[in-house]
Amino acid sequence: MDVEKAPSAGGARLFIGIDLGGTKIASALVDADMKTMGRVTVATRPEEGPDAVIGRMLGTVWELCEGHGCGVGDVGAIGIGCPGPLDQETGIVLDAPNLMWKNVSVAAPVAQATGLPVCVENDANVAALAENRMGAGRGARHMMYVTVSTGIGSGLILDGRLYVGAMGAAGELGHVTMLADGPLCGCGNRGCLESLASGTAIAQRAREAAARPAGAGILEAANGDIDAIDSALVALAATGGDATAQAIMRAAFEYLGTAVANVLNLLNLDMVVIGGGVAQVGDVLFDTVKRMIELRAMACMARDVRVVPALLGADAGALGAACCAAERLTKYVP
Ligand SMILES: [Zn+2]
Repeated sequence: MDVEKAPSAGGARLFIGIDLGGTKIASALVDADMKTMGRVTVATRPEEGPDAVIGRMLGTVWELCEGHGCGVGDVGAIGIGCPGPLDQETGIVLDAPNLMWKNVSVAAPVAQATGLPVCVENDANVAALAENRMGAGRGARHMMYVTVSTGIGSGLILDGRLYVGAMGAAGELGHVTMLADGPLCGCGNRGCLESLASGTAIAQRAREAAARPAGAGILEAANGDIDAIDSALVALAATGGDATAQAIMRAAFEYLGTAVANVLNLLNLDMVVIGGGVAQVGDVLFDTVKRMIELRAMACMARDVRVVPALLGADAGALGAACCAAERLTKYVP
């Protein structure tokens, strides 16, 4: 659905954000101050196909309205945060491997069923918007949000606005090349940041190490089962003093910090917000990133930048999608 032709939502007091993930759909109803008025989470079950998934997304909309005692007509707009490259103009998800989706129209069926304007935006981008508007990045004018989990995603707020680039695909920090001829990345390139510093990459390095004598401590922590090694186990082994696990984490976070330093030199940000499962390790990640910024960014770029943990956790997706809908479709600014 063309958002230009969408029904007007001026003066709306409520917005809905939907975070569409591979395992769950998390939806939130927020008021005009972006305060959460209701939350609903259901399983995605992508194996049942796009129509079933979109039906379950709509189910969360009806449930949120019912729970709040309002009609869907009281809602100003719906925002949907989706994985993968997508077309914001047409509301089509182009390629989302974890949903097994290629060229799936998401905005149109939701707009048709609800009669509301609907926007879709990349999941890391909406999380960036949420952290900027109501989370750790509040008040920052030039900010990058980075999520480090199984993959690495990011979103940019430049001059106070979400920056999506020429094709709507900006902010793929995970796919900047950090090591020529490095490990093969899911995108087809070699040595991407994601292939060196994501949770998947940390686990892979640890499994390689566990096959050698130096990795005995990691293997022991996994009860001898190499396949049981994940990034959380590596973090635990590192905290417990295992030198190999510590070296693997440090190397990953040095790549992350170097990538962030490159972005600082390019964009002169005032804040970097880092979230995602791997960032739960805390100080070791943040201290290493800050050290790499000191080492590699120009002094004027490094001096005043704040590097902070994300605040909103798993809520960032749904809240950011609601923010995106409010700002883009109704020009509403809380
Ligand atoms: Zn890549």
